[in-house]
Amino acid sequence: MNNIPVVMIIFGGSGDLAHRKLYPALFNLYEKGLIKDNFAVIGTARRPWSHEYLRGQVVQAISESNEHYDEQAAANFASHFYYQSHDVTDIDHYIALKKLAEDLDEKYHAQGNRIFYMAMAPRFFGTIASHINDQHLVGSGFNRLVVEKPFGHDLASAEELNKIIQGSFDEENVYRIDHYLGKEMVLDITPFRVTNPLVRNSWNAEVIQNIQVTVGESLGVGTRGGYYDTSGALRDMVQNHIFQIITLLAMPEPKKLTSQDIHQAKKDLLDSLEIPTKKDVEEHFVRGQYEAGKDNPAYLEEDQVDPNSNTETYTAGMVKFKRGPIAGVPIYYRTGKELKEKVTRIDIVLKQVENSYGTTEPNVLTIIVDPSKEIIFTINGKKVSGSGLREELLKFNYSQAELDKIPDGYERLIHDILVGDNTNFTHWAELKQYWKFIDAIEAAWSELNKEGKKPATYKPGSFGPASANNIFENPTDKWIYR
Ligand code: NAD
Repeated sequence: MNNIPVVMIIFGGSGDLAHRKLYPALFNLYEKGLIKDNFAVIGTARRPWSHEYLRGQVVQAISESNEHYDEQAAANFASHFYYQSHDVTDIDHYIALKKLAEDLDEKYHAQGNRIFYMAMAPRFFGTIASHINDQHLVGSGFNRLVVEKPFGHDLASAEELNKIIQGSFDEENVYRIDHYLGKEMVLDITPFRVTNPLVRNSWNAEVIQNIQVTVGESLGVGTRGGYYDTSGALRDMVQNHIFQIITLLAMPEPKKLTSQDIHQAKKDLLDSLEIPTKKDVEEHFVRGQYEAGKDNPAYLEEDQVDPNSNTETYTAGMVKFKRGPIAGVPIYYRTGKELKEKVTRIDIVLKQVENSYGTTEPNVLTIIVDPSKEIIFTINGKKVSGSGLREELLKFNYSQAELDKIPDGYERLIHDILVGDNTNFTHWAELKQYWKFIDAIEAAWSELNKEGKKPATYKPGSFGPASANNIFENPTDKWIYR
C-alpha cells in the first residue's frame, strides 16, 4: 500500500513525544512512500505557533533523529504540516479544527480519512475523544483514534475512559499504542516460539522451570518526579510493556496470524491470569526506591517528589496463568530506575534433568530486546582440555547492515495505524485484565503502608533491593541476569 490519503491530527503537537518519535517516524514512512502526496498533518497544542514555525520544528526533529537526512525531502514533507492553536477543553477550538481538517481534506484529496493521535497528558484523553464526537470531527472515510499510555490509572478509571471513547469510536478503530509491541525482538517472539520444533516442543511446563523478564533503566526520574510520584514502576512499566511481553510468551498459539485470532489467543490466556492475594504479594513481590548515588539524589529527595512517598521506582513480581502452554510456570519480572544498565531481556530457564554427568547448569534461552538484539542459548558442553563441562553460548545476532534497517517501534506501529492493522495494539479485553492484576498489588501495598511497611531501598547501579532475590517460588531459583 502506498500514498495513503489521510488527514492526521496530533493533539500535543509541540510535545516531547511528537518531536522525538512521531515526526521522525512519519518522515521515514514518507520516504518509503506510504504517505506521499495526499496527506496533511495538523499539530495542535496551546502555544501560539504558526504553520511555518511547526514546519521548522518538524525539520529540526528529523535532523536530530538522523544526521544524514535529505534536506529537500524533509522540507517537502514539512510543507504538509499545519498548526492549530488549541486548548483541548475549549469547544470553539474544535470547531476551528474541524474547518481546517475539512479544508485540508479537500486540498490534499484525503478522501475523508482521519487519524486522531492523542499525544498529550492522559487526563485529557476522555475530553478529546468526546469532543471529536460531539463536534463531529470525524470524516467520511476511515476514522482511527490513537491513545498513548497510560490508559487509566486503575481499572475503574480505565473503564470510565473506555466508556467515553467507545461512545465515539468502535473498538476496532481504537489503537492503544505500546511501542514495545513494535520492537523487533518482541515481534520475533511468536515466530521464534512457533516455527522452530526444538523451541516449540519445549514450550511447556514439563520443560520450562521459569521465565524472567528484566526491564532496566539506568536513569532516575529526572524532571518527571511530579508525574512519576503519582504513577510508580508498576503502573509505568508492568501494566503495559512488561505484560505485553509476558502475554506473547505465554499465549496459546493463535489459529491463524490474523489480528482477530491473535487477540483471541491473548484473551484466552489473560482470562486465566491468577490475581495475587495479599499473602502472594508479601511473598512474591517487592517494591523499592533508589538511594542517593554519586550522581543522583535519593528518590525521596528528587524535585517534586513527596519526601514521605511510598511510590516504587523498582518492582519485581511473579505472574502465573491457569491456561496456555506454560500454565502454572512462574514468570518473574523486575523493572526499575537507576539500575545497573538500560536493558530489556527475557531469560527462559529450562528444567534441569538427572543425567550421567551429575549436577549441571540449567539451559537458558535468552532474548535480548534492547540494547542489542540477540537470541542466546546457554548450554553445557565438554571442556576442550581437561575433564568436565563448561558453559557454551549459541548466539544469533543481526549484521550492522540489518540493524540499520530495523524501524523504530513508533514507525512500525504508525505504519500499522495507516494501513488499518490493529494486531499489535492493546485490545480492551487485555487491558482490563492487566489492570485487575495491578490493582490487586496496589491494594496490598496500600495495606502494607498502613501497617507502616515501607518500600525497600536499593543502591543506584545495582539490580534492585536484595529482597528481590527471595521472591522465587522454588528456593533454588535465582535471577539469571546479575
Ligand atoms: P509533553 O508534556 O511533552 O507534551 C504534551 C503536549 O500537550 C504539549 O504539546 C502541550 O502543549 C500539550 N497540551 C498540554 N495541555 C494542553 C491543553 N489544555 N490543550 C492543548 N494542548 C495541551 O508530553 P509527552 O512526553 O509528549 O507525552 C505525551 C503522551 O505520550 C503522554 O500520554 C505520555 O505518557 C505518552 N508517551 C510519551 C513518551 C515520550 O517519550 N515522551 C513515550 C511513551 C508515551
